[in-house]
Amino acid sequence: MYIVAEQDIPALIDRPSAFKAIEAVFAAMASGQARNFPVIREDIGYANALYGFKSGFDKAGLALGLKSGGYWPGNEAQGLTNHQSTVFLFDPDTGRLQAVVGGNYLTAIRTAAAAAVSVAHLARPDSKVLGMVGAGHQAAFQLRAVAEQRDFERVVAWNRNPERLARLASVAQDMGLPFEAVSLEELGAAADVIVTITSSFAPILQAGHIKPGTHLACMGTDTKGKQEVAADLVAGAKAFTDEIAQAISIGECQHAVAAGALEPANITALGDVINGQKSGRDSAEQITLFDGTGVGLQDLSVASAIVELARKAGKATEVAI
Ligand code: NAD
Repeated sequence: MYIVAEQDIPALIDRPSAFKAIEAVFAAMASGQARNFPVIREDIGYANALYGFKSGFDKAGLALGLKSGGYWPGNEAQGLTNHQSTVFLFDPDTGRLQAVVGGNYLTAIRTAAAAAVSVAHLARPDSKVLGMVGAGHQAAFQLRAVAEQRDFERVVAWNRNPERLARLASVAQDMGLPFEAVSLEELGAAADVIVTITSSFAPILQAGHIKPGTHLACMGTDTKGKQEVAADLVAGAKAFTDEIAQAISIGECQHAVAAGALEPANITALGDVINGQKSGRDSAEQITLFDGTGVGLQDLSVASAIVELARKAGKATEVAI
């Protein structure tokens, strides 16, 4: 079996490879070839940590395994990342352990790739202004991946603490895109594509903020109770997601569904659009919304790609077990 170290992963996986892996696994999920298993997430009663597993099997990509990890709030004080995870891949023919892959960088790049896949399939082709809501750890990855999907001319951004936008500004500069910190009203009026990536528990964007034809990638809500956009904005948009069961229970759609304003049957799996089974955007004026809840199969598909790349690059350590 192979070990791919966390520190080697940024140099191994690029954004196009992550995009390809995520697009393929969303397609496999929608066609019934890939399935996520129930998520385990527990308060372990030690170090204030939340710990769990996300697992699944992709028969098309032959990825079987789990991502194990969670949140250790005391880590930052020790110079470590609070979110810690590791992916374990197993041989689907024998059940033998195939690979252990660092999961921290992988999580950021696979989450950004999911937003990018949604933009590629759902945003208006003539989108020019990219709006970012949030400026935490994930936001810079999101900006880089999404900005590549259209010929954007500038980036507008909002964060609860505007001083934290400096990092996003430097990413935009790096990509040759003018950057402006704006109010939520200005952001909604200007942006053709909006990424929300916060850990908010109350709506930030309201329906009145958004102009017709906008595509929203709502990426921050991955737990019951979290919310980034108002329920009527979700209900008024054409809603897409990675996995419908998660969207209605822990994703952005949970609030509109609970309010009776959105029928789960009206939420489309993005994989069905990728497979050509269902329509994506119906008109240039339609507001489209991708509820990116984050599924274990995303981790497994990108981890498999990383193992392949690491073997080719001589960066996979082989261990006999
Ligand atoms: P972070 O702690 O680095 O940053 C949090 C961001 O949320 C900051 O911009 C902060 O200002 C903002 N924020 C927090 N509370 C807010 C509030 N009440 N109102 C407005 N803004 C608020 O976190 P991160 O690692 O960047 O993750 C952001 C979110 O994305 C988290 O909710 C995380 O759980 C989620 N996430 C989702 C996926 C997925 O697959 N969908 C994957 C990874 C992380």
